[in-house]
Amino acid sequence: MKSYDIVIIGASAAGTTAATTAKKFYGNKSILIIREAQNVPIPCGIPYIFGTVGDPMKNLIPVDNIMKANEIDVLVDKVVEIDKVNKIVLTANEKVSYDRLVITTGSMPIVPRLKGNNLENVYVVKKDVAYLLNLLSFTKEPKDIVIIGGGFIGVEMAEELKKHNENHNVTVIEMQDHVLNLVYDTDLCIFAEDSLKNIGINILTNERVVELVGEKKVSGVKLESGKELKADVVIFGIGFVPNIELAQNANLEIGSMGGIKVNRYMQTSNEDIFACGDCVEKFSFFDKKPTGLRLASIATMEARIAGANLFKNFRLNHGVVGCFSTAIQGKCFASAGLTTKDAKKMGYNIVVGNAESVNRHPGLMPGGDQLKVRLIFEASEGRIIGGQVYGALSGGELINAISAFISQKINAEQIALFQAGTHPALTASPIAYQLVNAAENAIVQLRSCKGSM
Ligand SMILES: Cc1cc2nc3c(=O)[nH]c(=O)nc-3n(C[C@H](O)[C@H](O)[C@H](O)COP(=O)(O)OP(=O)(O)OC[C@H]3O[C@@H](n4cnc5c(N)ncnc54)[C@H](O)[C@@H]3O)c2cc1C
Repeated sequence: MKSYDIVIIGASAAGTTAATTAKKFYGNKSILIIREAQNVPIPCGIPYIFGTVGDPMKNLIPVDNIMKANEIDVLVDKVVEIDKVNKIVLTANEKVSYDRLVITTGSMPIVPRLKGNNLENVYVVKKDVAYLLNLLSFTKEPKDIVIIGGGFIGVEMAEELKKHNENHNVTVIEMQDHVLNLVYDTDLCIFAEDSLKNIGINILTNERVVELVGEKKVSGVKLESGKELKADVVIFGIGFVPNIELAQNANLEIGSMGGIKVNRYMQTSNEDIFACGDCVEKFSFFDKKPTGLRLASIATMEARIAGANLFKNFRLNHGVVGCFSTAIQGKCFASAGLTTKDAKKMGYNIVVGNAESVNRHPGLMPGGDQLKVRLIFEASEGRIIGGQVYGALSGGELINAISAFISQKINAEQIALFQAGTHPALTASPIAYQLVNAAENAIVQLRSCKGSM
């Protein structure tokens, strides 16, 4: 039997980060990472293999290189059991003992209970290279493609499939009022829908799929409204559930939303077993209630906590802020923290500051593009609780600064007075810097809120 100080199950975003963090904090401990698949796709890159990247083999996490550089051992095998009494993991072929174990078994795509969901050519967005290769080759020739779910994954898949073959007839079906409705304010959702419609993607909102029809292969999709769409391919993009089978079989506690229950140090109900990433239960940074948000940014943050805390508590989890971004037709759509809708639902009185400007100075510098920033503040203390960015692609980095402001509970005055580095070739002018001006715009309103009390 092999024996290691630290064993990590899974080698995607969370597992890889937990392993390298453990190495940084406990350099003298022996570490083994176990992954079931030879090739681990970059999950966030999956939609892009259908258009921009073009091949699942070009979208892989270089796990072996990262582990070699960090002197961490790798085993390619499936873990089938955790024996927490004897502190052993059993793989299909081996037994490995551990002192500390980290579970990062991730998540699996949801397949809803719908009549016809087992027909041929009904797909999910699976983190599996062979499966993705099959979908890629099947969608080479023009097809009627129906994507169920208008979240990030559905929208990104739609745009990239259209790039894969512009003669595809692609339809996105969303049961909410708008695509991306859970993460953006309505105006941004509408911008996103318009951009997709401009390239010929059909968007059906407020529509619910009730049945997939076909003999052996799928041939159509029936909607609650009575409409029926032709479909050669159906792709579900309606979310992911935590992969907790191993943890459940080891009798580790499971949370109310179906993830492995962990404490603020990412420790499970067994103190020698940690867990992080999509497989664990999460709580909101704002109201500390369980949340179903699952993102690579959250998985890696949690992995940095788990890896650091394996033998001593160095780091504490403060909960999920939620920072999303995507690009549609060359424009950034990004969001951090609460949207205006969510903030109101959570009972906050809010003030919203907006600013828009070109992201270069002068605006005719190469790469010049409009960039709009919206900041959402709680009205009494003026602390930032959300933000959205739309337009120039540089917004994809700006949203990360907003996410940091939120997690540090910075107020509008502090944002208005922070010293932003600006340059003609890189940013808006210091006079028009959107982040600062959105805060200034909110400060005017915050003052009048207080003045009227
Ligand atoms: C299409 C798509 C696009 C996305 N885009 C974004 C984005 O733009 N930004 C963002 O922040 N997030 C994005 N996400 C979410 C993000 O990918 C996940 O939050 C992230 O992958 C979670 O990482 P993880 O390591 O926890 O789990 P996973 O990525 O699910 O990895 C779990 C790993 O564990 C392995 N494993 C499971 N069971 C066993 C076992 N018994 N033995 C050995 N190995 C095992 C699996 O094979 C897998 O490699 C996207 C997800 C998808 C699917």
